[in-house]
Amino acid sequence: MVAPRRQRQGDFRVKTVFVVGAGPAGMFAAQKIAQAGHEVVVFNRDIKPGGLAEYGIYPTKDKMKTGLRKQFAKVLALPNVHYLGHVQVGESCPVSIKELREFSPAAMVFSVGAQGAKQLGLPGSDARGVYSAKDFVYYYNQLPPYPSQDFSTGKRVAVVGMGNVAIDVAHWLLVDDPNHSTDEVIIIARRGPFEAKFDKKEFEFVDAHFDRAAFQEELKRIQPQMTAAGQDAAGLAQSTFPALAKPDPGACKPRLLFRFLCSPKAIHKDANGRINRLTVTENILVERDGDVSAKATDKTADVEVDTMVFAIGDTADPTLGLPYNKDAYITNPNSPPNDPKHASYEVFDPQPGRVMEGVYVVGWARKASEGLVGIARHDGEVGAVEVLKYLESVPDGNAPPVDQIIHKLKSKGLRIVVKADLECLARAEEKQARQRGLPWFKYSDDEAMLAAIEAER
Ligand SMILES: Cc1cc2nc3c(=O)[nH]c(=O)nc-3n(C[C@H](O)[C@H](O)[C@H](O)COP(=O)(O)OP(=O)(O)OC[C@H]3O[C@@H](n4cnc5c(N)ncnc54)[C@H](O)[C@@H]3O)c2cc1C
Repeated sequence: MVAPRRQRQGDFRVKTVFVVGAGPAGMFAAQKIAQAGHEVVVFNRDIKPGGLAEYGIYPTKDKMKTGLRKQFAKVLALPNVHYLGHVQVGESCPVSIKELREFSPAAMVFSVGAQGAKQLGLPGSDARGVYSAKDFVYYYNQLPPYPSQDFSTGKRVAVVGMGNVAIDVAHWLLVDDPNHSTDEVIIIARRGPFEAKFDKKEFEFVDAHFDRAAFQEELKRIQPQMTAAGQDAAGLAQSTFPALAKPDPGACKPRLLFRFLCSPKAIHKDANGRINRLTVTENILVERDGDVSAKATDKTADVEVDTMVFAIGDTADPTLGLPYNKDAYITNPNSPPNDPKHASYEVFDPQPGRVMEGVYVVGWARKASEGLVGIARHDGEVGAVEVLKYLESVPDGNAPPVDQIIHKLKSKGLRIVVKADLECLARAEEKQARQRGLPWFKYSDDEAMLAAIEAER
């Protein structure tokens, strides 16, 4: 039984905590804080909870997605967790951090993920057909408004980067894209095959398209650079490319190709403003701080492509309104443990040079691109423990009941989605799936979702 708001239970006092962002980190932080007896109000940009678990994880990973949805539903079933979806918080949004503060929550936890993407900063980056992997993934996972935008792909697609997200994008283009327009996906990597960062299991999804003959040619091309770095291609099957140990079934179209040791340098456009060529700088491998790094040479080459997706990492969103530096929110540099690499959960304002009291970041908002869902969950929970410790030391805030918060936000014209609405939406999507004879159905624009909720009420 959860205590009513601010009722005294022995020495325990119920406080109100705002959690901004309902991905894995936010949902599990909310659960931990609510299970300790506090009121939690979750504000989420998207109508649905889940963040990248809903809109990032590969669409056919049904089991994982369904399992996570069930866990999020359990969090939302807690009577002291309140959900306010379709509410984006930010400097130029209808709700700013300053306005949230005016509701006097005892603490605020920002679990907004890493909504920005590292940019290549190349001439020609504004060409049509050039996309950040985050946007492209949101598009094929049906996060509004991306499905209504142009993510057209052509026959030869350069995917820049060699991590799991790059392989997810290749997986989509080679296997599941309903347009089946792609003949070749070329993974462009600044380092060599031993520096591939994707998981072997993820590569199995694209294995059938892996052109081994072309790969051997590519290894021949870069052999001098690998030898100079003390690398022997014979070890690749045991390390990063186990597919090489399997019998070669012959190239299956569309093909997956690799171009190693090159970094994008310039994007060229055709008469319609679409990318038609990518100039790359050739690299060599050098050792730097015990790691194998790429070093640019003065040689360049051209790769003919009509689409480019860059998957080179994520950054925090600078427009949220938290202190920001070098692609990340600023966290307390003085927090224990005294490890320079340890990022604190407390947000730090460099202007007065002190911690923003009661303001925390968790998950990918704290460390962009840091690990899988399990890591984000753990980070949300550890951050929540920090918040709970803080709550012990502060007096009550004067946060109004959640109905009043909703009323105030609605008066600004916001169409807020609450827990009961999510149930309506789930019923509406199930009906659509049945009517269309599909295993599942997902609305891909906010207006359609809001209309379906209305109709179901
Ligand atoms: C392409 C891709 C594939 C992945 N595949 C896997 C996989 O197969 N298995 C796995 O375990 N992990 C996978 N991951 C990693 C996993 O998705 C992340 O570890 C996890 O989702 C991070 O959780 P988070 O809560 O920190 O951020 P997110 O999941 O990004 O959640 C952020 C939340 O904040 C909300 N938000 C953002 N901005 C605002 C704002 N201004 N105001 C209000 N709300 C806001 C969003 O709506 C969202 O709900 C994948 C990641 C990517 C990018």
